[in-house]
Amino acid sequence: MEKIDIEEAAFFIENGGALSIQSDTYEERPVQVELLKNIADGFNRGLIGAFEAGTGVGKSYAYLIPSILWAVKNKERVIISTGTINLQQQLCEKDIPAVEKILGQKIKFVLVKGRQNYICKRRLMETSSVLDLFEDETAEIKRIADWEETCSTGSKSDMTFMPTDNAWTKVNSESDACMGKRCPFFNECYVMKVRKEAASANLIVVNHHLLFADIETRMNGAGYEDASVLPPYKRIVFDEAHGIEAAATSFFSESLNRFKINKLIFPMYRKRKGTEYGHLCSIAVFSKNDDKLEEAYDLTNKIKTAMLNLEIAAKDLMRGEYTLRLCQATARDFGPFLVCTQALAEALGNFVNLVRLIMDGVSDEDKDVPCMWEAKAILRRLDMSVILLKNFSLWDEKKENVYWIQQKRLPPDYNRSETDLDYVTLTQTPLDISGLMQSGVFEEMSSVICTSATLAAGKDFSYWCKRTGLSFLDPDRVSCKSFASPFPYDKNMLFAVASDAPLSNQSEFQPWIEMAIPRLIKAAEGRTLVLFTSYESLKSAHKTCVSVLRGFKGLIMKQGDDDNSKLLERFKNDNESVLFATDSFWQGVDIPGESLSQVIIVKLPFSVPNDPVFMARSEAIEKRGGSSFMELSVPEAVIKFRQGTGRLIRRSDDKGVVTVLDKRIYEKRYGASFVNSLYECKKVYEPLQELTEKIKRFIFD
Ligand code: SF4
Repeated sequence: MEKIDIEEAAFFIENGGALSIQSDTYEERPVQVELLKNIADGFNRGLIGAFEAGTGVGKSYAYLIPSILWAVKNKERVIISTGTINLQQQLCEKDIPAVEKILGQKIKFVLVKGRQNYICKRRLMETSSVLDLFEDETAEIKRIADWEETCSTGSKSDMTFMPTDNAWTKVNSESDACMGKRCPFFNECYVMKVRKEAASANLIVVNHHLLFADIETRMNGAGYEDASVLPPYKRIVFDEAHGIEAAATSFFSESLNRFKINKLIFPMYRKRKGTEYGHLCSIAVFSKNDDKLEEAYDLTNKIKTAMLNLEIAAKDLMRGEYTLRLCQATARDFGPFLVCTQALAEALGNFVNLVRLIMDGVSDEDKDVPCMWEAKAILRRLDMSVILLKNFSLWDEKKENVYWIQQKRLPPDYNRSETDLDYVTLTQTPLDISGLMQSGVFEEMSSVICTSATLAAGKDFSYWCKRTGLSFLDPDRVSCKSFASPFPYDKNMLFAVASDAPLSNQSEFQPWIEMAIPRLIKAAEGRTLVLFTSYESLKSAHKTCVSVLRGFKGLIMKQGDDDNSKLLERFKNDNESVLFATDSFWQGVDIPGESLSQVIIVKLPFSVPNDPVFMARSEAIEKRGGSSFMELSVPEAVIKFRQGTGRLIRRSDDKGVVTVLDKRIYEKRYGASFVNSLYECKKVYEPLQELTEKIKRFIFD
């Protein structure tokens, strides 16, 4: 392997280098140069790097330059994995072409999306020819087919309209339903085209989810030398690496509910007004076991009944709770529910056996008929559902997973009865993904760079390293470093905490914040993002605020009023607007300029104690003698808090206030972990009255 010349690589972005010559707005960023050198060193020495780079460091150039230099010098492809589509777009449309210009050389890069994002020509053709089967989606499928005739990528994101899930899943590419080389459309296939391009690319941009799909197949036997979902690779850069644990947890989770089962059974077999439809009926035409088809109706009814019984048992068990975990404390109550999971597993298993029997009766020359491929894909998913249901009864042996159920309610719909609106989802979630990451990613790769604006809880990387498996590696192979934001936080950010707020667990807290938030909004003349940890609290505070601030010029919006992206657009464009938000807004907002001058953090973002996965993870820590509060709750909340406060200063000339209404940050010992995680800035801890004055002066003087 030919090493990167680190000084030469750094010079591209240093004063006098290509970037400084090409850009009119060039300013040298020593911290970016340092990060680039560390990443290049990571490539050269085969390290696993966790590099935290604050807002404004310019991390994409810092990893793209070494990645491209390495890929070109060594003819080895590098994977760039991101958490969000926005970053993928930014990399492919802006950053990679800009780095090509800086380096003075073109490279081959490809954005690879999961195959479900592309049209499968074979399925589209099949579906279009039997449209009466799917009459609800007929118009949409026709529209997709019309669009497909003129498109070049077959990619959903290039479509001029957004198809519904129901229509799209009938025509998209699915690995189990793909006939590969035997497909008549193989040569024109969109998925195959992207794969071909990826095979000869220097740089492949993917999302974490797709990367885990590839890693999974490699861990399950495909190995690391040949092409799988992606072509083989030995180097990965994870950007937005703070999301690795959540992405891997979600990828390796399995769940099931009434709709998922129906979505699998209906296309296989359904009977309406005495007529039978579905792939199974088409297969029976070719099968010598066609007489078995008579049993299908009975079996699908048994599945329906078993699912209904399961939902009734879940309702009895949950007694109004939204989530419930299957564990030592609840195992006895789960008894009748587990009987129902077994019954559903049996009913589904019998149906799967029947389908296989009918498929076995198809002669070899007819085995390539499309309905056989569709059925294979559905059977694999039904098999997984059966395993999930059986695993619920084996929960005590399968300690690597958390088993839990959740009750949800559909929005009112006149087509459904009251009882039909409630449904239950069964989920199996991995307790810990660190082992998977260690053996499936870090130990198999020659080098991995993980970067994000927030990896450390304060200055300490140990929490993130433990959660993602870095702490199990040879310490000589691991490098963890922080690269501070170059923005002048000391001058431009005020950190304000209300000292006269009630404690956040007291009943007076909600009325108090509903009094305080409108005053703080007035002090900043709108321009405020209010971050909550609970949607209930958000709704109530928003309602009060709208009524107290009647006549206020700016918009007072709340999450849920519209699409998140539309809300953000309005917030950005209306300088005096206010947005009440929770969840994804703690990390998904990038609004430079005056539109965002105040971020209010209502409560410290601790995970809700009844989150089943969080509870199981806490228990596992306690069991081995640790403190779940200090080892899990606090560091997780500190990282989220840093993400929330990080919404404020997005450019070097941004100025504003982070206001915290939860005084535990100063009154509890663990509060220091939150305060110390901030960049050096002005801090005030005073009663609301004085605070609002200071906020006003800080923003407008
Ligand atoms: S090769 Fe596979 S994905 Fe492509 S059109 Fe054929 S069946 Fe569909």
